[in-house]
Amino acid sequence: MMQYYISENTIEFNVENCIYLINPLSGSLDKIADEQFIQEWNLVKNKKSKNYEFLKMLSDRGYIFFDVSEEEKLHKKLSNFIKQMKKPLRVHLILSYDCNLRCKYCFQNISRSKKIAKEIVIQRMFDTIEFLKLENNHEKVEIVLFGGEPLIRNKFLYQRLKQTLDTASTKNYSIEIVTNGVHLESYIPLLKNYNISQIQVTLDGPKNIHDERKPVDLLPALKCEDSLCGMLAY
Ligand code: SF4
Repeated sequence: MMQYYISENTIEFNVENCIYLINPLSGSLDKIADEQFIQEWNLVKNKKSKNYEFLKMLSDRGYIFFDVSEEEKLHKKLSNFIKQMKKPLRVHLILSYDCNLRCKYCFQNISRSKKIAKEIVIQRMFDTIEFLKLENNHEKVEIVLFGGEPLIRNKFLYQRLKQTLDTASTKNYSIEIVTNGVHLESYIPLLKNYNISQIQVTLDGPKNIHDERKPVDLLPALKCEDSLCGMLAY
């Protein structure tokens, strides 16, 4: 006699002379309308089935198992999938709203400011991120450095960026950067010290169109630091 058992997750409904089998673990749903199959299913339930083909079909659909380890494997697969599905906490950090370009469509042109977040403000931002992570039980945090332009050539912004990268790395947060790319090359000696998962460079098409849509800012560069900053977490 072949050894098998019906999964505890197998649910049976009888509707209008048909049997519906459901198993949420394997994600199966089947209708048994054929009289012969209904009899076979009843034999399966009474542990008297010798119909290997039918048993194999039920096993493939996850209604029965020949070995408990098969069902455990399925459980593990599903729980890994759920873990992967768990959303990371994604946070956009804006260390300054300033930018070295003046794109015509930039919504930040309205409130353009040449100030940079203070060290203490960045510390507070990370405290808040840690709080949100614990509060909402997130396993991962993704930091997106956003702007304004996060890679402006300026010593204050450089220091704050380094502070941000150091803190994010220590906490094992993943780091992404969205940049217009103008000074990306000069930041490479700094960036290569960190595990940056993604750098997104915005291009607006061929050179002539790009340059026309993204003109260079002619105002003086950042001079001072201030408490202005932004943070968007979701
Ligand atoms: S590069 Fe980005 S932040 Fe800078 S002006 Fe253009 S759209 Fe705005």
